[in-house]
Amino acid sequence: SASPRFSTATESSFNHRNPSRVPNLIGGAFVDSKSTSTIDVINPATQEVVSQIPLTTNEEFKAAVAAAKQAFPSWRNTPITTRQRIMFKLQELIRRDMDKLAKNITTEQGKTLKDAHGDVFRGLEVVEHSCGMATLQMGEYVPNVASGIDTYSVREPLGVCAGICPFNFPAMIPLWMFPVAVTCGNTFVLKPSEKDPGASIMLAELAMEAGLPPGVLNVVHGTNDIVNAICDDDDIRAISFVGSNTAGMHIYGRASAKGKRVQSNMGAKNHGIVMPDANKDATLNALLAAGFGAAGQRCMALSTIVFVGDSESWLNDLVERAKGLKVNAGIEPNADLGPVISKQAKERICRLVQSGVESGAKLLLDGRNIGVPGYEQGNFIGPTILTGVTADMECYKEEIFGPVLVCMKADSLEDALNIVNRNKYGNGASIFTTSGAVARKFQTEVEAGQVNRGSNIGGYIENCSELQFHNPYKLASMSPYQFPCHFSHLLAIKHLSQATLTFTARLELTFLPRLK
Ligand code: NAD
Repeated sequence: SASPRFSTATESSFNHRNPSRVPNLIGGAFVDSKSTSTIDVINPATQEVVSQIPLTTNEEFKAAVAAAKQAFPSWRNTPITTRQRIMFKLQELIRRDMDKLAKNITTEQGKTLKDAHGDVFRGLEVVEHSCGMATLQMGEYVPNVASGIDTYSVREPLGVCAGICPFNFPAMIPLWMFPVAVTCGNTFVLKPSEKDPGASIMLAELAMEAGLPPGVLNVVHGTNDIVNAICDDDDIRAISFVGSNTAGMHIYGRASAKGKRVQSNMGAKNHGIVMPDANKDATLNALLAAGFGAAGQRCMALSTIVFVGDSESWLNDLVERAKGLKVNAGIEPNADLGPVISKQAKERICRLVQSGVESGAKLLLDGRNIGVPGYEQGNFIGPTILTGVTADMECYKEEIFGPVLVCMKADSLEDALNIVNRNKYGNGASIFTTSGAVARKFQTEVEAGQVNRGSNIGGYIENCSELQFHNPYKLASMSPYQFPCHFSHLLAIKHLSQATLTFTARLELTFLPRLK
């Protein structure tokens, strides 16, 4: 009963290859691409080739968009309660296959099984949220806006929408995108990360099993060419992108020049300010979890600590605790952090650490040469801590996206806020303090999309990456349309509901005679 709707004619062509080839989903059928160009999907702990993705041909891409376009008229007219019911079924199926999804994520992305479960779970929350779409989509009504005239507005789906995903959350990020979009009544073309496409395909299978009609969700694999095709296609009305600044700026520019609605969620350099009055134990634990968890490859990872005043003396204890973290393949039960995604990523991270050393930073903990028995080929980097970092250093200016904490010093909260606010990235920022007044000042004056208060104050202390608001003023979000991020907290739910704004247009109907 759990079997997805594979087209049997094509099933063998992708399943019987060695390594297996990840299929596209076009018009309700999982089909092998005709392309002969492929990219290996590599297990970052072992270097084993898990599967291959095709560089989907332009013809196949056009077929996916055409299928989505064709499915749109009847899907938008499907009652919202029916669309919601498919999401109810989808959440049930994701729960059923949670372990399978998590295992695939650990194999392709490298994160620990616990983190992989979290990856699926946070995506699941978006599916659950989509189950309440009927209320989220309610319109507005103003009686007698002019004499004898009423006005009301309704939210309408846009048409074919597309999603372009990064590697770091293979389940959560696709689930930020298509459940909301399709439940609003749109149809969708999803382009997973070429590095870990497995979860997207498993989720697409579950969506089909849940009853999504053919063509409502399509999946195509590839890299730059297919992304550019998405940007240029006249039938695609809106794009949601998550990934690096380089790709995001390009996509934002190219697709908006074509008149598309684009939301571009990009890179980060998240700061944590540590005040001397913070609870030391809780703060150090939070810094470790947020800095090194998921090998620092979370967009909300904490990458920069600004120690204010005497709190810098905690550095030695931070180093000692960091040494206690277990670096291992994500599949191993004792792993605290797994490998980084690729050999190239490892080289990049090591180069940025080295550039810090060469420009005068002090390396308190060096994880670059760590060996992991049984996984000698893995892209492992152990927790790494650089101190004495200044704002002009490359290791500070660039996003490192690895298990590296760069540490700076400030004399006062004002100084620390200046450092944070001068940085071009504004994804998130945290403060560790026991003072309500200090926390409030930080919350009001910091220029970051997501503001956290750690340590004893309402605290999201175990993990600074739990909640995310994108900053409307800085690079992290370039689009006026916000998106669902991490939730589970009240404010975030408010933010999440804005996802419906991305994928719907507000249609104002006015000058209608009042019904007597
Ligand atoms: P990436 O930008 O390399 O890739 C993201 C997607 O864009 C992929 O699907 C890829 O195929 C495509 N792409 C990459 N380069 C391209 C180009 N030149 N032209 C067209 N398409 C291109 O990002 P990544 O390495 O997969 O993910 C890590 C990045 O994502 C980090 O910078 C991280 O901060 C960011 N991120 C941000 C958020 C957020 O919410 N702001 C969330 C997660 C990750």
